[in-house]
Amino acid sequence: MDVKNPIINDSRRLIRQLSDAAANRIAAGEVVERPSSAIKELVENSIDAGASRIDISYSDGGKTLIRVKDDGHGIAENQLLLALSRHATSKIDGTDLLNIHTFGFRGEALPSMGAVGRLTITSRIQDVAMGATITVDGGLIGRVRPAPSTIGTVVELRDLFHATPARLKFLRTDRAEAGAISDVIKRLAMSEPFKAFTLRDVTGGGDGRIIFRADPETGDLFDAMYGRLSKVLGVDFAKNSFRVDADRDGMTLTGYASLPTYSKGSSISQFIFVNGRSVKDKNLLSALRAAYSDFLHSGRYPVVALFIECDFERVDVNVHPAKAEVRFREPGTARGLVISGLRHALAEEGHRASSTIADATLGAFKKSGDINNSSNLRMSQSWSMEVPRHHPDQVGFSEIQNDFSSRQHDNENIIEQISNKLGAARAQIHENYILSQTVDGLVIVDQHAAHERLVYEKLKNQMAMNGVSAQTLLIPEIIELSEQDAAELMEISGELNGFGLNIENFGGNSIIVRETPAILGEVNAKNLILDILDELKDWSQSNIVKEKLDAILSRVACHGSIRSGRIMKVEEMNALLREMEATPHSGQCNHGRPTYVELKLNDIEKLFGRT
Ligand code: ADP
Ligand code: MG
Repeated sequence: MDVKNPIINDSRRLIRQLSDAAANRIAAGEVVERPSSAIKELVENSIDAGASRIDISYSDGGKTLIRVKDDGHGIAENQLLLALSRHATSKIDGTDLLNIHTFGFRGEALPSMGAVGRLTITSRIQDVAMGATITVDGGLIGRVRPAPSTIGTVVELRDLFHATPARLKFLRTDRAEAGAISDVIKRLAMSEPFKAFTLRDVTGGGDGRIIFRADPETGDLFDAMYGRLSKVLGVDFAKNSFRVDADRDGMTLTGYASLPTYSKGSSISQFIFVNGRSVKDKNLLSALRAAYSDFLHSGRYPVVALFIECDFERVDVNVHPAKAEVRFREPGTARGLVISGLRHALAEEGHRASSTIADATLGAFKKSGDINNSSNLRMSQSWSMEVPRHHPDQVGFSEIQNDFSSRQHDNENIIEQISNKLGAARAQIHENYILSQTVDGLVIVDQHAAHERLVYEKLKNQMAMNGVSAQTLLIPEIIELSEQDAAELMEISGELNGFGLNIENFGGNSIIVRETPAILGEVNAKNLILDILDELKDWSQSNIVKEKLDAILSRVACHGSIRSGRIMKVEEMNALLREMEATPHSGQCNHGRPTYVELKLNDIEKLFGRT
């Protein structure tokens, strides 16, 4: 054979029709990637069949056995063979691929699994006395035989990939595969709160070990959702989350999202569902980030379970083999809905700080049983008559002073203040923490974090109304920067001007600051500029101007805030508490840390063994 010219004899150039078995194995590569993806397909089939109870078992991370049992409508005996053939489905007739109401529609899952493992389906429909069963092993289909069965379907998949050993090598440890299975089941359980799910590890035989179990929830959809999410994501999430219920242009968003003070270091606990399907959609995740950008540093992620529902025609689910991605016809509507729905709900919930923080604090109190170790709990009242210097436009002190005079008649009447949510200020400790007495407990406020938030909210309001008023510096400040920093700053000088921060190029790499935001009072212009540059670097990834500007504004706010270390008078403290109550989002600082924690008298009494 002529090696240089193999065309004539090279059989690789001939086009052939692949056998069904080969085609199914190839399809299996896309649909059944690992045990968890097989389980996903099987449980979705059970849901499509209208099941109300779904029991899932696996052995050895699903590698040797997967079993899914449901009480759905079942498969008739004369349909069993069809269910195993490729592109055979009862769910669509192929005329309208944009109007798909079921999880499945491709008719690929069962034949794919039969091609790469040993698959047995046993099923019984209503009104027949006996069920039927069929087995397919490595693509070889057996006979349909009668089998005793309750109404519903049991699908058993043994020795996944035994027919394609090369793929076995790509499986991870049993533990990792089992983890992926749990994740799949939890996602499905979240989207179907009225159905019961049980997940068992039956490695070694017997009834095995229950890994996850969710009984059917009752009540209206929100009650059911709440119950199920507490089960799946934990009671802490449920306690520290708020309800989301919004709509836009016929698209709805429901679910629960965590307070910014209850966030995680990764996006692993962000669950988004589109028409009941769990999706990993970059566009939606970025909308989520935008919605929380006011409250969380990049690198912190809220925990959410959000459900978007819309007409089936408005979203294409047929763009990913495992249907993990979807394509919206109007991506802008979905993004806008997520951002505005969450922002709105956050505004209403903004006063709340995470309860886990109070719990953790209590835990810390409990641990310090040794009185010699409790020096950090000693309290000292720091009262001071020092009058702060401030600009008339400055937030906080001026208003606090005004507030003070109007309140003087009350003599700071604790009884009157105490009925407020954040109570009556009683002391300042360590020159940063306000201790306040509420009707049924104690509140500890981080004065700097709280004031920073108030200044930020004020700045944003002013910006939205008519720009932030500027204060001219008596002596403009010249700041020497690197060439790149100077250029970057000048690029946004127009926007900064809107913040009341007026900068100009001063030749070379220098800039001159002529005006600073009046609201901040006297600030160190150089530090302010350097901070803004830091913020710009953090956000270099983002090309969304609004997000950048908000982040800068939040940095700017820090400069106008009451520093820790500043001694406050009780009137000032009370004024701060009242302002917090009146300001949205005041439960957390601009970085998602809480501005206050609350301990109930009940809990305090428990600490002392009184209850
Ligand atoms: P698809 O779900 O895309 O239709 P599958 O290969 O997963 O394709 O299933 C083929 C068909 O078998 C389904 O359309 C359905 O009619 C039937 N089927 C599969 N699983 C079940 C089940 N658990 N209960 C009832 N019918 C089922
Ligand atoms: Mg299916």
